[in-house]
Amino acid sequence: MIVDLRSDTVTKPTPGMMEAMMKGEVGDDVFGEDPTVNALEAKCAAMVAMDGGVFCPSGTMTNQIGIKVLTQPYDEVICYKGSHIYKYEGGGLAGNSHVSVRLLNGVRGRISVEEISGNLNNSKDAHQAITSVVALENTVVREAGSFYSLEQIKLISDFARSKSLKMHLDGARFFNALAETGDKPQDYGNYFDTISICLSKGLGAPVGSVLLYKKEFEFKARRMRKAFGGGMRQAGFLAAAGIYALDHHVSRLKEDHTRAKKLGSALQQATFVKSVMPVDTNIVLFEVADGLTPEKVMAKLNEHQIKGLVFSATEIRFVTHLDFTDTMLDKCLDVFSKLKF
Ligand SMILES: *Cc1c(COP(=O)(O)O)cnc(C)c1O
Repeated sequence: MIVDLRSDTVTKPTPGMMEAMMKGEVGDDVFGEDPTVNALEAKCAAMVAMDGGVFCPSGTMTNQIGIKVLTQPYDEVICYKGSHIYKYEGGGLAGNSHVSVRLLNGVRGRISVEEISGNLNNSKDAHQAITSVVALENTVVREAGSFYSLEQIKLISDFARSKSLKMHLDGARFFNALAETGDKPQDYGNYFDTISICLSKGLGAPVGSVLLYKKEFEFKARRMRKAFGGGMRQAGFLAAAGIYALDHHVSRLKEDHTRAKKLGSALQQATFVKSVMPVDTNIVLFEVADGLTPEKVMAKLNEHQIKGLVFSATEIRFVTHLDFTDTMLDKCLDVFSKLKF
């Protein structure tokens, strides 16, 4: 039994999902004629109370299109310094949108009105880039899946609007946040201009993300998907997996969180661990004990068929998901308690 905890992207479609995919009605989506893609986009838009959505191959693409439609070259985007759009998208903001970034520390990745307000540029000063977007991430992947409440988001959005800034949400694990806060997805539409949601993370679809937008950004978002090479043809087979995921896999996300918390507590007791970041959702991030390296610890865990990700010079990451069972959890707890160096 191989236990793969490197990411929540490693899941394979379930039999039910495969069946839904095989039954998906398809057409040419670049012509707007794929009924299943259209249904997925409409379903997601209604869910978060946005005006429409565009189905894309990846969350990187939906984020990049989101920032592209909300900015002009030479603008500046405000975000957390470890955010995915900045740190894990291959420099795409520079290449695709020609924008600079203002990186904030945040509290475990959650930035605040105070921090944002101290980092706005003066748009009347020709020396400075024009601050135009605040980009939030929920949950925050670099900070072990910490999350914002809607109340915190409302404060930021109200402030951003008062300064004529646009709001983008990287909601790769949006439903993981909602599973903890109990906030309603439709309330999010009030506070953002664009929202990216991944179907291929905790929701277990094989491929796909959706960028939700307000009406005024529709044409540009669709044009940019084409320009970025993301226009797919009979993509309804993939969209069917997304619809199935939304219908069947949202309500079970708490299970992933419970298992992640159990992994976290077991690691806290393990001899090879120095510290574990609080486990808020489905991501477990820990520092290895002094004298060890993440590579060394992972090599030992690999011998027991447990896979994780070396996340930094001192940290290892585990992410729980649809294909991580209680039997696998028990195996991990057993191995963690016995591992010797
Ligand atoms: C995974 C992820 C994305 C998008 O990733 P893709 O692999 O391009 O689909 C975006 N933001 C966050 C926070 C992520 O974890």
